[in-house]
Amino acid sequence: MTASIAEVLADNTAAALRKADALLEGHFLLSSGRHAGRYVQCAKMLQYPDLAAQVCAELAASVRQSTGEDQPFDVVIGPAMGAVTFGYELARAFGVRGLFAERAPEGGFVLRRGFSVEPGERVLVAEDVVTTGKSAGEVVTMLREMGVENISAASIVNRSGSDNPFGELPYYRAIDLEVPSWQAEDCPLCADSANGLAIKPGSRPGLT
Ligand code: ZN
Repeated sequence: MTASIAEVLADNTAAALRKADALLEGHFLLSSGRHAGRYVQCAKMLQYPDLAAQVCAELAASVRQSTGEDQPFDVVIGPAMGAVTFGYELARAFGVRGLFAERAPEGGFVLRRGFSVEPGERVLVAEDVVTTGKSAGEVVTMLREMGVENISAASIVNRSGSDNPFGELPYYRAIDLEVPSWQAEDCPLCADSANGLAIKPGSRPGLT
């Protein structure tokens, strides 16, 4: 048996992220002050339209395969900012509209700019990295309040640690990544001096 579609998708996505230095392994100091052995920032990969198009096309192909439908959605939408570039490119891959929702001052998300979704439309909620799924979940809530019933979710990276942080909604992603982090005093990478000091992900020394 050769590698599954999901494994090929994950491998190709990791390669695209690495090519853009959007997925790094090392010993990192995060802006929160915590230390981590891995860094992922999808926006760094999405800045390259060819990599964005490749990852979205492969994700769309795997969704088409698992749903058995060539056109499983009518519209792609996600929370700004995490979905603006990704959602647009994923919409192109499916050949449908690509919208984004914006955070409302009173909380939750709203559609602005003349965007609209009809209750009968099949909607794919997109967010580049799902950590808790909270923002995408708030877009799902907005859609349900608009009467939309057919909702699925998609991301490039699932780092939630859960197989499906969206519960009963179908959820598709290109790659599952664990990004464990620790308080400096508990960091196992600090415990081994061979790892060197923790550095900010944007700086270069020690990276390969
Ligand atoms: Zn450390």
